[in-house]
Amino acid sequence: MFELKKLVRPNIMALKPYSCARNEFKGEASVYLDANENPYNAPFNRYPDPLQWAVKEKISGVKGIAKDNIFLGNGSDEPIDLVYRAFCVPGKDNVVAIAPTYGMYGVCADINDIEYREILLDEDFQFSADKMMEKADKNTKVMWLCSPNNPTGNALNQDEIRKLVSVFDGIVILDEAYIDFSSQSSFLKELDKHPNLIVLQTFSKAWGSASIRLGMAFASTEIIDIFNKIKYPYNVNILTQKQALSILDNASQVKEWVKTLLEERTSLIEKMKEVPIVRHIYPTDANFILVKVDDANATYERLVMKGIIVRNRNNVALCQGGLRITVGTPKENDILINEMKKM
Ligand SMILES: *Cc1c(COP(=O)(O)O)cnc(C)c1O
Repeated sequence: MFELKKLVRPNIMALKPYSCARNEFKGEASVYLDANENPYNAPFNRYPDPLQWAVKEKISGVKGIAKDNIFLGNGSDEPIDLVYRAFCVPGKDNVVAIAPTYGMYGVCADINDIEYREILLDEDFQFSADKMMEKADKNTKVMWLCSPNNPTGNALNQDEIRKLVSVFDGIVILDEAYIDFSSQSSFLKELDKHPNLIVLQTFSKAWGSASIRLGMAFASTEIIDIFNKIKYPYNVNILTQKQALSILDNASQVKEWVKTLLEERTSLIEKMKEVPIVRHIYPTDANFILVKVDDANATYERLVMKGIIVRNRNNVALCQGGLRITVGTPKENDILINEMKKM
């Protein structure tokens, strides 16, 4: 039985959160003398909306998820960290994660002094819910999934994801940073069936806004309330909120980018097949491809010398010989292919 109250850290359960000025007075007024702001230099003189309702309203329209089920943070990194701070007691609780996957889950576990248990994916980069459950014990509060997965690029089996979310009584995080590039659909539409599921998405990839630092977490209102209780009061600044509103009005542009990048991904894979040093190109559901080459370290270094930067994943479990290559513009991709062909 999933019971959120039993999962939340006792000190967080008991926490009386800081109440900022813009929390205590909500609504419109003509004279604001409550927050010790400078009255000049509008609009940056004013504290931003701590709960970013205008942005959530637009996201709600785009994603079909109610505003109360949305948390916004300083990149996805913020909700990733909040998961540990909300649910895991340092030095006692643990989490289980697929491996290889996004490095921040493990780094945030270390920062929070939480044991991080890894389960290697199989040779097709798929995971087994049973194996993850075998690794769990009574102190396992959280499980981490990422689909499409980074750095492998593939989407995880959806039935296996459903199975894990159903059998595990703790929190399951499904990181969908690359979902816009995937042929698989998002789990957002199944959110209301799963009170223990947190879906992460971001403005950093398909939405073309990595520099504004805006990440989204979608979950039950109970989980969102806990995140809101422990976040920094004004965690998303006004410049980010304004830029998010503007990009959200440009959803058609984002669609165009995704279409172009998917076409270019296909073309890059075709050209990569002609590169002699390439041994294997893995299937991808993301805006990058994982390729195995004869000597990943040497290839990486030689590309750097040419001013071309890819991600060397040679030292990552199951990725030996692997380079992770982002799909760029046609011109950028051609520069890469031409250099790799010379090696
Ligand atoms: C890029 C990426 C993110 C995005 O992180 P932000 O902090 O939102 O920029 C999240 N998860 C994965 C797996 C990623 O690869």
